Amino acid sequence: MTSELAGDVAGEVSGGVSGEVSGLARPMPVPRADLGLREGYHSAQVSVEVRLNTNESPYPPPAEWTAALVAQAGDIAFNRYPDRSAVALRSALAELHGVQLGQVFAANGSNEVLQSICLAYGGAGRKAAMFEPTYALHSHIAHLTGTGLAQGTRRADFTLGTEEAVALIEAERPEIVFLCSPNNPTGLAETPATVSAIVAAAPGLVVVDEAYGQFASWSALDLVSDDVPLVVVRTFSKTWSMAGLRLGYLVGPSGVVRALERVALPYHLDSLKQAAGRLALRFSSEMESRVAAIVAERDRMVRALSRLPVQVWPSEANFVLWRPLYRDGREVWQELVKRSVLVRDTSSWPGLEGCLRTTVGTAPENERFLSALSEVLA
Ligand code: PMP
Repeated sequence: MTSELAGDVAGEVSGGVSGEVSGLARPMPVPRADLGLREGYHSAQVSVEVRLNTNESPYPPPAEWTAALVAQAGDIAFNRYPDRSAVALRSALAELHGVQLGQVFAANGSNEVLQSICLAYGGAGRKAAMFEPTYALHSHIAHLTGTGLAQGTRRADFTLGTEEAVALIEAERPEIVFLCSPNNPTGLAETPATVSAIVAAAPGLVVVDEAYGQFASWSALDLVSDDVPLVVVRTFSKTWSMAGLRLGYLVGPSGVVRALERVALPYHLDSLKQAAGRLALRFSSEMESRVAAIVAERDRMVRALSRLPVQVWPSEANFVLWRPLYRDGREVWQELVKRSVLVRDTSSWPGLEGCLRTTVGTAPENERFLSALSEVLA
């Protein structure tokens, strides 16, 4: 169990009549023993000038979006529950992707989409497969929902071997297969051939988590169809500059969307968020120019890193994974923090020994990171 969760478990008594006075005092009940998230997953939030650790967009959303949202907030009937089916938002997303309204499911961040998938298709006696190292929440959410894990591994260069993946799927017969493309934290996208081979082999639902999909050269969205058991998960947190909004969605077969609606809590998407998401879609061209700027900066960062004594992996996302060749990863992370630059310390994660992950920021932020790193490694 992480110390963070241990803190929750211990509970904090604040205010109110103390149990001793009321005579009701006793030790707090013990929660499930298996709740822990992998040690070190939560990103340390130290106070720094340059924050490149959680793959957010470095840019705020367009000012026009904020103004439109404020104007629209005045028209919302906050005394009423929101549209339970979020029809306007889902229609706008369906139009964006050229699919039907019934093929879109939205939730509070793509993490909640992933949780809904596990609630509907996982659970006791069922299994989810994933290929490590990958997004930690795939195994974590599966585990929390009582879903068994079938954990495969990537090759040494972090690519996913199609034959190995298919062999694991055939041996384990998982109800859910999680892919992440581009893969967090390694940065590579799966190939169309690998995704198709996995869909062909999987007995259940294949989930392609495309949280970073807009930064990549291809998307599995083209494979979505009512008769293909594949869903693509997307988020407003990265390209849309709206991590604070907590909005994510899935595009997939309408039968899958109906199943997810059965596990979602009633009115899970509030009225303001529905309006905010719908308004955001009017700013697609701004979003696309931000993606282009980040991709250009990412490629510049990869080139600059390759001139330093580090191993650097190619990236199709808005972050870059690298490993100091002659220095301890954790030590380099600390040296960067001393220079007010925060990157993600993945150096103790299984399969990522010594590695660090840097989110692509603005050009000046990336410059600060690169010059601090050159100094540390000099
Ligand atoms: N999937 C992947 C691969 C991610 O990296 C993240 C964010 N770290 C998420 C999903 C969750 O994104 P959100 O819940 O903010 O939509």
